Amino acid sequence: MAQYSPRQCLATPGASDFGFPFAPYAIQEQLMQELFSVLERRQVGIFESPTGTGKSLTLTCGALTWLRQHEELVRSELLQRIVEVEKKLDRLQAASAQEEDWISAQSESREQQVELQQLNHLCSLLDKREQQLVVIRERTKERKKHQKFRTRPKPEEEQQVDNEHPSDADTDSDSDHELGDGPEEQSEDRYRPVQIFFCSRTHSQLAQIVAELRKTPHGAWVRCVSLGSRQQLCINPQVRKLRNVGLINERCLDMARSKAPANPSKKSRLAAGSAASLSRCPFKAPAKVESLRDVALCEPLDIEELAVEGTACGGCSYYASRSAQDDAQLVLLPYQLLLQRSARQQLGIDLRGSVVIVDEAHNLLDSIAQLHGSELTRSQLELAREQVSGYKLQYARRLSTRNLLSINQLLFVLRRLLKLLEPKAGATSVRMLRTYELSSEGDFDNIDLHALLEFCGRTRFAQKVQGHATRAQREPRPSENQPPGSSRQTLLQHLVTQHKTLGKQPHGKRKLAETHAEAEEELQMEKKSSGSDQVAPSPIRPLLAFIETLTSNAADGRVLLNPQAGMVKYLLLDPAEHFADILSEARAIVIAGGTMQPTQELKEQLFARCPERLVERFYSHVVPPDAVLPFVVAKGPTGASLCFSYAQRGTPAMLKELSMVLQNLCNVLPGGVVCFLPSYEYLDTVHTHLEQSGGLQNIARKKRIFRESSGAADQLLQQYAEAIAVPKGGALLLAVVGGKLSEGLNFADDLGRAVLVVGLPYPNRNAPELQQRMRYLDERLGSGAGNEYYENICMKAVNQCIGRSVRHIRDYACVFLLDERYASARIREKLPEWIARHIFEPNGVAFGAVQARTARFFKNR
Ligand code: SF4
Repeated sequence: MAQYSPRQCLATPGASDFGFPFAPYAIQEQLMQELFSVLERRQVGIFESPTGTGKSLTLTCGALTWLRQHEELVRSELLQRIVEVEKKLDRLQAASAQEEDWISAQSESREQQVELQQLNHLCSLLDKREQQLVVIRERTKERKKHQKFRTRPKPEEEQQVDNEHPSDADTDSDSDHELGDGPEEQSEDRYRPVQIFFCSRTHSQLAQIVAELRKTPHGAWVRCVSLGSRQQLCINPQVRKLRNVGLINERCLDMARSKAPANPSKKSRLAAGSAASLSRCPFKAPAKVESLRDVALCEPLDIEELAVEGTACGGCSYYASRSAQDDAQLVLLPYQLLLQRSARQQLGIDLRGSVVIVDEAHNLLDSIAQLHGSELTRSQLELAREQVSGYKLQYARRLSTRNLLSINQLLFVLRRLLKLLEPKAGATSVRMLRTYELSSEGDFDNIDLHALLEFCGRTRFAQKVQGHATRAQREPRPSENQPPGSSRQTLLQHLVTQHKTLGKQPHGKRKLAETHAEAEEELQMEKKSSGSDQVAPSPIRPLLAFIETLTSNAADGRVLLNPQAGMVKYLLLDPAEHFADILSEARAIVIAGGTMQPTQELKEQLFARCPERLVERFYSHVVPPDAVLPFVVAKGPTGASLCFSYAQRGTPAMLKELSMVLQNLCNVLPGGVVCFLPSYEYLDTVHTHLEQSGGLQNIARKKRIFRESSGAADQLLQQYAEAIAVPKGGALLLAVVGGKLSEGLNFADDLGRAVLVVGLPYPNRNAPELQQRMRYLDERLGSGAGNEYYENICMKAVNQCIGRSVRHIRDYACVFLLDERYASARIREKLPEWIARHIFEPNGVAFGAVQARTARFFKNR
């Protein structure tokens, strides 16, 4: 595909040129201008802009303004360049005709002709593309005259997307090519414009971008498409009811491969789940999908609206969005679709020359590690063994020797992993191994795992096994319809085949003996697997994902083996490797968040290869300086030092100080007060102490008390808000750092007039995963890097808690950091800049002064 890079540079526009829906504040203007410059100069920008400062809207306006001007520049420069080259060619031809140095004139003329040819080709591709887009717009306008699609969906619960396991991601690679995706062009013959890929953690955050986009003039011209998984976008009710994303993917792919024509009346067959009896999905009809693709390109729609449009017009929203992706200027997508190379490939996302914006990126490193990690439980392995055994027994006679060997190898790996998970008396319970150590201990290091994965991918083994397992559960068991012993017959046949295969291998005899026992075991497994009615998600995908991690670079990760917990887990230690493609392919990258500090590890781990491209900008809050009053509370009301380290926080003295702090502050704080404690366990301890010491009753005179539990938070938040909304109302919410209330929630205005963070919530230093990561960082980045990482985990969590309050320009709040360790400069420099700068007496002050200053702060408001 062709792309043109202008030779001229765009000048950074003034504040009024960004299409911002209202007059931007100074920091919004600065951010848009800096962002513009980062995109123009092909840089990597890390931007911190506190929550409540309109960050997402600012990013969107900044990026789209650049895109519009860039596209205009490309078009005008191309035309201008063509005129210039034509003129030059005329001059050269004249010079050649007059025989003034005709040799060099001719050689230069040839070069100019080649350039002119290329420029004209680019221009014609660009014209063709623009004409196609005009046709799409016209077509959609016409359709809309005749049809009325519904665009207002009922509000649904936020769709968290980051809990989907990577192995559940979309996995088809070819089925969508069956669709008529518009003009039949070779990809090389298309003009490839610059696309902006805007990714965030949840679909609800992405829907917010669409809502804000509509408020700006950019909403009228930009072709914006939201990408999601089939779970969010599938409109086939029979498939949707499978609920599990893996099952939905598999059913959709099975239907795409079906030879039977689409027939919506065959619902019963779909429900029966027999791959053989499936018809093609009626919603994937090319005309309907194309029609929806056009709608999606003409009007920004969020993921729910896209699904609603699909339901209304009867076209598959999933394939429509995929098909629209190529022509979109702005692509909105969740983390896992952008950050995983396999997901990008499957969706046909091409990042070359594009702009990548990662929003809500405060945990980017962890997100990459999580998406590329992999975990298997004993029960998943057992289920996988049952299903693969059942499949093998069913099809042993039809399988080629080569395929049967691969299946046997997979079963062998499964058994060995299960053996490694057997708890052994006296053995170390949790161990950290390198990938090759695991395969060596498991005795499967002589198996070519790459070839095994290739076999599974080529034969769509996961789908086949799942299909077989589902049928085995739902259809009558063979024993009810077939003569007794038919399974045994298959088993015998399989034994003969294995005998031949194993007899030729080293250690064949020992393995042969094992095989007889295993075959009997498989027979039992088959019986067991066909006896249950419940359709479970496929365990084969997580298994293959785990095996794939064993083939990765041994230095990049470790395997945590925990027989006691019945779990084996791959930990990615080096996220850089998985970000390298994005870094090298994208024109510019923007990493943005409300609390990006501390950024040291992000820079060291992801961007060490390109320090010259890196730009960091930290913006202050939009609120005036006197709207935030942060304190380091180093001493309690009795004058005793406050230290909520793990060893000290449960002592009677510290509990008493905390109880007094809460009682005193609740006397002077209006509205809602959110107090974050380091763990659920400590929350219980504090609550019990308050209850037993009478503190709870004292606080209850001023505030209703609520406590976070590990269950649903909606009802709790509603009651909390109601307690504040009543005249002279107020509430104290005891919450947990890193819990449900510490990220993404909005405690604006009276909901959060104060945030208290009790102690420094360091994670458990003895956790094997953490130790391994710290050791790795020390080895890779030098001594101390592991400790820095450990401290940063804690401070990022603190910063998230702080960010719950002060949510807009007229908001105001106090922040209390309860622990003497917050007074250290090292800790304070990891706080958000807008907090660190305004801390009242950073070295700590007597508690009486804290209370008095707080009372004055609210009196002045
Ligand atoms: S084609 Fe679309 S509507 Fe049909 S099953 Fe697949 S995702 Fe669902």
